[in-house]
Amino acid sequence: MNHDDQCIFCKIIKGDIPSYKVYEDENVVAFLDISQVTKGHTLVIPKSHHKDVFALPSETAGKLFSAVPHIATAIKEAFDPIGLNVLNNNGEAAGQSVFHYHVHIIPRYGKGDGFG
Ligand code: 5GP
Ligand code: ZN
Repeated sequence: MNHDDQCIFCKIIKGDIPSYKVYEDENVVAFLDISQVTKGHTLVIPKSHHKDVFALPSETAGKLFSAVPHIATAIKEAFDPIGLNVLNNNGEAAGQSVFHYHVHIIPRYGKGDGFG
């Protein structure tokens, strides 16, 4: 597994920084975003450190995205949104601020829910 001592998400994986985990398996962790754009905003990350989609091995992407339907369903059941965005930012210009690949799951509650 790749690891970066300076990376905040690697620290979350190790348990050195606390997080509210909603899912974990051998390869993937999902936890609530510290700054919720909507209720239930969750991040899904590979346990292996890769900075963005360009550095992400396809095999790692496959393992991560195979967990996404399960995590999205759990979020839908927990928060009862009427829709849900699955998205990923790559590069500062695209809004990436943490350089450990991650997917945002953003539950949507209709007009005025604070996102988009
Ligand atoms: P990006 O802007 O890179 O696509 O998303 C990074 C996300 O990580 C942001 O939504 C930010 O709120 C979240 N984040 C940054 N630091 C932490 C942290 O220490 N804990 C958690 N749970 N989320 C964090
Ligand atoms: Zn990392």
